[in-house]
Amino acid sequence: MRDSERCVLAIDQGTTSTRAIVFTRDGQILAVGQKEHDQILPRAGWVEHDPVQIWDNTREVIGTALGKADRTAGDIAAIGITNQRETTVVWERSTGRPVHNAIVWQDTRTAPLVARLGSDGDGGADRFKDVCGLPLATYFSGPKLRWILDHVEGARERAEAGELLFGTMDSWLVWNLTGGPDGGVHVTDVTNASRTMLMDLRTLTWSEEVARDLGVPLAMLPQIRSSSEVYGHSTRLGAPIAGILGDQQAATFGQACFEPGMSKNTYGTGNFMLLNTGTDIVRSDHGLVTTVCYQLGEQDPVYALEGSIAVTGSLVQWLRDNIGLITDASQIEDLARRVDDNGGCYVVPAFSGLFAPYWKDDARGAIVGLTRYVNRNHIARAALEATAYQTREVMEAMNADSGVEVTELRVDGGMVVNETLMQFQADILGIDVVRPQIVETTALGAAYAAGIAVGFWDGEQAVVDSWTEGRRWTPQLDEVERERLFRQWKKAVRRTFDWVD
Ligand code: ADP
Repeated sequence: MRDSERCVLAIDQGTTSTRAIVFTRDGQILAVGQKEHDQILPRAGWVEHDPVQIWDNTREVIGTALGKADRTAGDIAAIGITNQRETTVVWERSTGRPVHNAIVWQDTRTAPLVARLGSDGDGGADRFKDVCGLPLATYFSGPKLRWILDHVEGARERAEAGELLFGTMDSWLVWNLTGGPDGGVHVTDVTNASRTMLMDLRTLTWSEEVARDLGVPLAMLPQIRSSSEVYGHSTRLGAPIAGILGDQQAATFGQACFEPGMSKNTYGTGNFMLLNTGTDIVRSDHGLVTTVCYQLGEQDPVYALEGSIAVTGSLVQWLRDNIGLITDASQIEDLARRVDDNGGCYVVPAFSGLFAPYWKDDARGAIVGLTRYVNRNHIARAALEATAYQTREVMEAMNADSGVEVTELRVDGGMVVNETLMQFQADILGIDVVRPQIVETTALGAAYAAGIAVGFWDGEQAVVDSWTEGRRWTPQLDEVERERLFRQWKKAVRRTFDWVD
């Protein structure tokens, strides 16, 4: 085989779809396979995925991508995995059969459980924050896992007996890729583990204390490994699986944010801003979470502060699928461009409650500021603006927690093709917004983590060298107007609080 044909395969198991992307040694995309999976919505606030469908799609997109790239299994130097985080799967060790659909990160069914856990011990919602860096919230895996153990008949006993396995999507895919019931390896990486509420941030091991308080048997948890090492080999392709990063951490890696103080913001289903804090564990006083950014093999872990926003791009999907305002996501921009401003209208998409910086499970969405003047174009514009305002709230929290002002923002994700949004983002933040040439930073980060582990690439410098600026937006709005809009937004947000009875 010619060395020039060697490549790295990244699997990006996202909230709406699964992608396989083939990267060349110079960090370019050779081919992509992609397939959406079903969003199963059994009740208001519940969101599920079928893990078997996702595994089937994964195999299919790998085949599609390799076929398009004209590469065979033998050309793959390494496989990297990145995934929607927190989404929780429990399956049978002996058959690989899930005992329940995956409970997705946006799902709020555990709100009563989370409230009870918060009132049971000292510290309220911050009861476990010292250990795991996270507030008690429906978002994280621990309460979702507890829900499955409580609601699937016999699950708790079987989990205690070691018959059931828990995993986030990375664990589920690696276990299946490496043989499933016939010897599949049951692992996760530090970044995914840091989203479960069950890992101690300092020791990078499962916290027996939190597991006990949440009622989760340790026997069902995967082994925690670094983000860049060989975990096992694909039984079909023979290639080593050598990188795992949660999607937001992968994007931070792919954006080459390796120095403390560097940050990125990803605009996908939700928005996630991460700030590299180096080897320091920085606790947030402003509604951010503390998380692991990445760990390369035996090196010290690098930590991050994160501002997580549940609903940004999925508001555009909602306007398409539930309201019929548009038939394709890109049309939102055509509508928004027909007006100069939001006409006084604000859309607060608190569909899953509000995440950072509020952490309010009982908030629900609202459209406010309506008058007879407001039309569909204003609503489209207000929907886009919602993403930008939420990002500003998170950035203010980040500046306050870190004591350092972010001076420019690196962006990526499905929404950053939207020029109107990106310009408004620069306007409302008052700083430059920068998009790299390769916006598939999530897959890129996972590919690099895997390629670095097997020596295909030479450390983080390879990522730094490949990062190239693609487009830059500079603020144009005057400051008085910027602050007026943001004040109105904050008023609108307060209207959504305490909605659930
Ligand atoms: P994820 O990885 O979370 O599945 P992606 O990064 O693929 O998401 O981004 C998809 C999101 O981007 C969808 O929620 C979609 O509504 C939104 N989106 C796609 N194109 C546009 C556009 N032109 N304008 C605004 N939003 C868009």
